[in-house]
Amino acid sequence: MVKIHRFCRRRHWLWPTETQLKAHFKQRFPLHSQTVQAIIEKFCATIDGVRTKRKHGDKQVRYPWRFRRYFNPIFKGQALKIQGQHLLLPSGRGREPIRVHLPEAMPTGRVVQAELGFGALYLTITHELAEPVLPESGKAGGLDIGVIHLGMVCDGEEAVAVSGRGLRSVKQGRAKVQATLRKKRARTKPGSRRRKRLNRARYRTSQKVKRVIRNALHHAANQIVEFCLAYGITILYVGDLGTLNDKKRHRRSRRTNQEVGTWEFGRFEQYLEYKLRRHGIQLIQISEAYTSQTCPHCGHLNKVAGRTYHCRACDYRAHRDGIGAVNILNKGMYSGEIRPGEFLVPQRITYRRPVPLKRALRRRCG
Ligand SMILES: [Zn+2]
Repeated sequence: MVKIHRFCRRRHWLWPTETQLKAHFKQRFPLHSQTVQAIIEKFCATIDGVRTKRKHGDKQVRYPWRFRRYFNPIFKGQALKIQGQHLLLPSGRGREPIRVHLPEAMPTGRVVQAELGFGALYLTITHELAEPVLPESGKAGGLDIGVIHLGMVCDGEEAVAVSGRGLRSVKQGRAKVQATLRKKRARTKPGSRRRKRLNRARYRTSQKVKRVIRNALHHAANQIVEFCLAYGITILYVGDLGTLNDKKRHRRSRRTNQEVGTWEFGRFEQYLEYKLRRHGIQLIQISEAYTSQTCPHCGHLNKVAGRTYHCRACDYRAHRDGIGAVNILNKGMYSGEIRPGEFLVPQRITYRRPVPLKRALRRRCG
């Protein structure tokens, strides 16, 4: 597909369509027809993605060009069969299916897709949830998403901060390991066994870090949901990430920007959204502008330095972490306006970690 597409592209011919590719590659491989189709669909989706990105001026993005020796085959739902503890992956008419032993503890739901990797099988499972019952209290909370605290929730009386430090250190660890690997790799010859080994090591650590981060984000989101349930919050206001990308970006130091990519906040919010929805809690985005500067007591704007927030107008002092969450709650309650004196930072803030730091990872990476 890469070859055909490049051939047509370079000659300014019409690009092959999905239907044409499907017709062309039909019955050419010892694979199930739907597997071939799924790979073609994936390829076409990539082409579309690159095309739109390039249209929007990003000329750095390339169309698929790399020759890939291996590609994970995808097996679609209708063709998958479960036989006792085994999942049967069809490999086309007249060929024996691949049998994969499933773990004892499987999540409930229907397997809709399976992707076969090296020593790993990735399953996509759908699980329809019943419509959640809306709690009655109608209480609101504010959530501030940030780097030092991944999430900080407050309902006006209680507050919980979920630390983001663990995540940061994991990422720093990765950067270090990748730097050493890169150095070692530079001394090897292309195609040598040593280089291949180093490439694999790099892939392995990056994949592991990805999983650790995903896990931490899920746990952090769960802790915020727990807080909402414990205090009967039914509406959670969150600062929109749009402003975080543009405005907070240059305010933060360059180093911080490198440490935690903004896409992770987006993912964190996605996780939160669906986890909250299960319990009938709404997540509403509001503008984050000035929420970290405004004094919740008198409304004065202050520049913040250090860990404590101090208002020059009314001498109000509070832990800096809480200010954002309290003001977001305030803004949400009064349609975008921060009303002074309505919500103050709680005296007690509970600090939590998403997950205990994995020593195993640190050892391996360090
Ligand atoms: Zn003040």
